[in-house]
Amino acid sequence: MKDAFGRKINYLRISVTDLCNLRCKYCMPEEGISKVHHEDVLSIEEIEEIVKVFVSLGVNKIRITGGEPLVRNGIIEIVRRIGNLDGVQDLAMTTNGVLLKKYAQDLKSVGLNRVNISLDTLNEEKYAYITRGGKLKNVLDGIETARKVGLTPIKINIVLIGGFNEDEIEDFIMLTKKEDIDVRFIELMPIGESIKLESEYYVSNQLILDKVPELIKVEREDISSPAVYYKLPNSKGKVGIINPISCKFCEYCNRIRLTAQGKLKLCLHSNEEIDLKASLRNGEDIKEIILESINQKPESHNLESGKYVSKNMNQIGG
Ligand code: SAM
Ligand code: SF4
Repeated sequence: MKDAFGRKINYLRISVTDLCNLRCKYCMPEEGISKVHHEDVLSIEEIEEIVKVFVSLGVNKIRITGGEPLVRNGIIEIVRRIGNLDGVQDLAMTTNGVLLKKYAQDLKSVGLNRVNISLDTLNEEKYAYITRGGKLKNVLDGIETARKVGLTPIKINIVLIGGFNEDEIEDFIMLTKKEDIDVRFIELMPIGESIKLESEYYVSNQLILDKVPELIKVEREDISSPAVYYKLPNSKGKVGIINPISCKFCEYCNRIRLTAQGKLKLCLHSNEEIDLKASLRNGEDIKEIILESINQKPESHNLESGKYVSKNMNQIGG
């Protein structure tokens, strides 16, 4: 399926829950979020039904995210059902990794191809601080288990936060030297909880190239990927740089999002949502609704305008 600007839309990111077992300072309020009524969240069957329609329209790349996808009841069954659909070529998950040791083997067995793990620091105390109580060891064990069972290539996502983790840039990059792990630095985006933090803690990813000038640019494999990749000489893994603020990649955007409450989001940075759950429950033809909606996908986001998305990342499916 193509949008009004001729972009081929083949990538769906599905948030399976708003809930999370961590409280990252830039993503969720300390007190957590008010629980959504069970009936307002897409059931496993509804997720499967909606995803089937997307796949019939040409979506072949799916990422499961949240909130924390591994706290969703029935997550293994959700992955199994999506993995069983003909036409899904790449099925990945973004997770904080806390429960990965427990679930990695089952996820692999039911068809998950790979995981991206979010980890902003390699220091135990700093990890507990930024996640408000998380234990670093759980994530490191999760990464190890994911590697053992073959949920690869593993990508580690790091949000760069001023005064917090700039001093760890080199340490993260060194992980790519001996291991086939990609580390990807993401700029802090002004969304929900982080709108108030962004002006103070935003650091441009350019700092990475300034700090590690030996990085060599790697030829782009996937034009729609927001990451520009670099490599240390002779390293096994790559270093990705994602600049949603200082460098826009809207022209090649191939992605859409489905929230845990069944709302279709055409752009991460827009408050516009299309209620697919209501349409599904009313017996409407969601294929038609999706096709019409895709035509309204905005050409680009405009963060300079100061119009930010009010929901937190955990509610959108980052
Ligand atoms: N809980 C899972 C995790 O942390 O990987 C999946 C959901 S989380 C919302 C997805 C990603 O969004 C994480 O890598 C997180 O660091 C990132 N994120 C959350 N808020 C952000 C913000 N304001 N700016 C940039 N990235 C953000
Ligand atoms: Fe949870 Fe992921 Fe948000 Fe952290 S970034 S609070 S792990 S949803």
